[in-house]
Amino acid sequence: MIRYDAKLAAEYRDKLIKRAEADVRECYQCGNCSASCPAAFTFDYPPNQLMRMLQIGLVEKVLDSSAIQLCVQCLTCTARCPRNIDVAGIIEDLKTVAIAQERDVPEHVNTFNRAFMKSIAHYGRLPELYSMARFYMGTMDPKMAMSDVGLMRPMVSRGKMKFVPRKSKGADEVDHIYKKSMERAKARERSGNAAGGTVGTGSEVRS
Ligand code: SF4
Ligand code: SF4
Repeated sequence: MIRYDAKLAAEYRDKLIKRAEADVRECYQCGNCSASCPAAFTFDYPPNQLMRMLQIGLVEKVLDSSAIQLCVQCLTCTARCPRNIDVAGIIEDLKTVAIAQERDVPEHVNTFNRAFMKSIAHYGRLPELYSMARFYMGTMDPKMAMSDVGLMRPMVSRGKMKFVPRKSKGADEVDHIYKKSMERAKARERSGNAAGGTVGTGSEVRS
């Protein structure tokens, strides 16, 4: 049975309105966002279902979902929503919250996200080989690495992968921006805790 948590729904809605400037109450479940999402087939919950879950206060489930981590931020859902809800903005906001709370999301999504972001922060661009090596080391799953080895040869021969990663000119600035935004996200979560809020702050939501 799905329990409607009116208090949690209201508190989280207020936070989203402030941060993502979007109100999930406006969603009338037409399903346009899910029908046009190119990544929904990989999600555990399609975008319209995420909106419904937020409406009824199932914030924990949404923050633990793989969907918010697998969204590629193409913005199609936002562009096609007849209620002008920034679905992609909401998802991005939730993803930041989940990462700041160091949630364990399924299917190595967090590991991939971390490897991707840290590679970009360090090099100012995406060195694919380095990034994938970081990812495979994080998963501790040699089978997964072996299954992708066949893809490497054509990518290297076409110059899509470089063995030695090189830093881009503005790499240090990118690194600075990344660290600062993560610090801010964590501080935002901590201040939510200190204010005694019950939403989007991890531990007290779970208790
Ligand atoms: S397109 Fe907009 S109104 Fe329709 S289900 Fe998605 S979020 Fe709701
Ligand atoms: S922004 Fe994310 S949820 Fe929206 S359509 Fe693109 S992949 Fe799907």
